[in-house]
Amino acid sequence: MKDARIILSMVREVCPNGVFPGRNGEQVAEWPPDPFHVLISTVLSQRTKDANTYAASAALFRFFNSPKEISRAPLSRIKELIRPAGFPEAKARAIKEIGRRVHEEMGDVVPDDMEALLTFPMVGRKTANCVRAYAFHIPSICVDTHVHRISNRIGLVSTKDPEGTEAGLSGIVPEDLWIDVNSLLVRFGQTICLPRNPRCGSCPVSMHCDFFSRLHSPPPSAKNLRKGPRRDPKA
Ligand code: SF4
Repeated sequence: MKDARIILSMVREVCPNGVFPGRNGEQVAEWPPDPFHVLISTVLSQRTKDANTYAASAALFRFFNSPKEISRAPLSRIKELIRPAGFPEAKARAIKEIGRRVHEEMGDVVPDDMEALLTFPMVGRKTANCVRAYAFHIPSICVDTHVHRISNRIGLVSTKDPEGTEAGLSGIVPEDLWIDVNSLLVRFGQTICLPRNPRCGSCPVSMHCDFFSRLHSPPPSAKNLRKGPRRDPKA
C-alpha cells in the first residue's frame, strides 16, 4: 500500500502554500475565515477559478457581510456582485437562501455537522467538507476535481466518483492530514499534476505514481518483441 503521509510530504515540498476557496495564497482576503464566509465562498467557488471566486467573494462581502445582510439583499444586486464567479442566477439564489436560513432558523450560526450542512442549496459533500475543514478545523477530506484526479493517477485510490475517493482516502490518509489533502492537492493540481499534460518530469511524486509507471513501462508485447526470437543454441 502506498504511504499517503510520504506522498503528501513530497507534495508539500513543492506546494507549501495551500489554498482553499476565497483564499488563493497570493491575495490576502479582506474577510474572516469564519464558517459563514467560508460557506459562501465555497458555494461561489463551484465550477470556477480561484481568482474568480476571490473577486466575487470580495465584491459581495464588501456590501453584504452577514447572514442577515445577505438574506435581505436584492437578488439582482447579489447576482451583479457575484457575476465573476459564473452561474450568477443559481449561485445568487442559493446564497440568499443560505443567508436567510442561517439568520432566521439558526440564530446566525452555521452548523458544523454534515447532515445539517447538506440541507443548504448548492451544498454537497465537497462544500460541506470544505466548511468543516477550513472553518471548523474538523478533520474532513474535501474532494474536488483535483483531489479526485490526482489520487487516482497516483494510485492512492481507484474510484469512479468523488464520494468513493473521499471514502478511500479516509482509509489510508492519517487523520491529522485530512484537512491538508485538499489545500495541498489543489495547488499541486494547478501547477504540476495538471488535468491535461501533467508535468511528470518535474514531479517529486513520480516514483510513487501509477500513472507515471504506466507511461514508462513498455507494453508486454513490446518487451517480447525486443527480446527477439529464441535462438537454437545448437544452430
Ligand atoms: S508523476 Fe505525473 S501523473 Fe503522477 S502525480 Fe506527478 S504529475 Fe501527476
